[in-house]
Amino acid sequence: GDATSKENTDLEKVSCDFDKYVMKTYNRQPLCFSHGDGAWLWEQDGRKLLDFVGGIATCSVGHCHPKLIDAVHQQMNRFHHLSNLYYIPQQVQLAKWLVEHSCADKAFFCNSGTEANEAAIKLARKYGKVRWNCKKPIIISANKSFHGRTCGSLSATAQPKYQSSFLPLLPGFLYIDYNDTPSFLKMVDNIIQSSDDSRIVGVMLEAAQGEGGVMPGDEKFFQTVRQVCNQIGALMILDEVQVGMGRTGKLWGYEHLGIEPDIFTTAKGLAGGIPIGAMMCKSHCDLFELGDHAATFGGNPLSCAAALAVCHIIEEEYLIENAKLRGMELQKGLEKLKQSFPQIISQVRGWGLLIGLQLEKEYTASQVIDVALEENLLVLSAGPNVVRLAPPLIVTQEQVQLALHLLNNVFKRLTWSN
Ligand code: PMP
Repeated sequence: GDATSKENTDLEKVSCDFDKYVMKTYNRQPLCFSHGDGAWLWEQDGRKLLDFVGGIATCSVGHCHPKLIDAVHQQMNRFHHLSNLYYIPQQVQLAKWLVEHSCADKAFFCNSGTEANEAAIKLARKYGKVRWNCKKPIIISANKSFHGRTCGSLSATAQPKYQSSFLPLLPGFLYIDYNDTPSFLKMVDNIIQSSDDSRIVGVMLEAAQGEGGVMPGDEKFFQTVRQVCNQIGALMILDEVQVGMGRTGKLWGYEHLGIEPDIFTTAKGLAGGIPIGAMMCKSHCDLFELGDHAATFGGNPLSCAAALAVCHIIEEEYLIENAKLRGMELQKGLEKLKQSFPQIISQVRGWGLLIGLQLEKEYTASQVIDVALEENLLVLSAGPNVVRLAPPLIVTQEQVQLALHLLNNVFKRLTWSN
């Protein structure tokens, strides 16, 4: 059908129309795809690119997975929206799967990661109110964190570059350094010593920081946070939006850390790229009452049918195991590249298929991204000096080796040009 689709993907026209009609909140690469399959994306002219961005870690089961397409089709043919005024079978099936495959007892559904974190912040405040009639709830989060852009989750996102134009934010957010136990203990002490009636209701952390540079959580730090939360009655809230749903070679990031959170949030990969978010909690903090919180589209049958299909694909195709094995191959190959190009790569870190390459100061992530693009490989950044790799969980051994080969070309070219 391809006159229209050609027109729709003509880069020059599309980019002009973007400038004219769409707010410029994203710095876009000069690319416009016509279709995808697995870990591949095609431009209209037939150029084929290997996708190690995966829609920023959303593309869990790859582009155009037939079972995901089928589930969405079937649901569209029945009905695609029912309000939460009625029982939605697809929603309860998804909630059941998530509960049976995590430490949580209950689910609340919304439409994105930031919205799931909003729900977690509200639930923590409600918990403080119910438990202590607390009027000055405090939530501790970490510097360099990313929890989203709406005003609540932005208040937890401790990065001045995201916050500074939008002050004042929600009161009651305090920041520690990630993985820094002394910084955390000192903060807790200060709050407990302070004479006003503030109270720590929650500690909100990413199991591995994604946007902050792909920083895996430190087991000892997380276990200390868990113990302190138990002692003072605060809720431990983990943001699993980027690391959850198998990306790290385990279903949930917290499984790497030997702890269980009271609340965790998931989105991104949950429905393989179709919008959905979920906040999961244990029963002791299942405290929302009628009217406390809601989202019109939250848990709609279409998103839930898609997410359920993704859950089943992850199980049937052993994608957690695949993420672990392909991730190990990728890390191993990247360590070799680090040895070949020590003047460019200073560290390789990550879990499973979420990997960061820390670059030496002379190099920027955008340099690598641009040259990789010329090599037909899509990668993304996580801050100015970290290249992030987040391929779909269906990525094959051959594709991992190809990506390593292409990255080798990229670093060779960067060496020549510097
Ligand atoms: N939390 C984390 C850890 C994230 O990485 C992101 C997105 N980068 C979000 C929350 C926000 O998710 P969304 O864009 O779906 O609102």
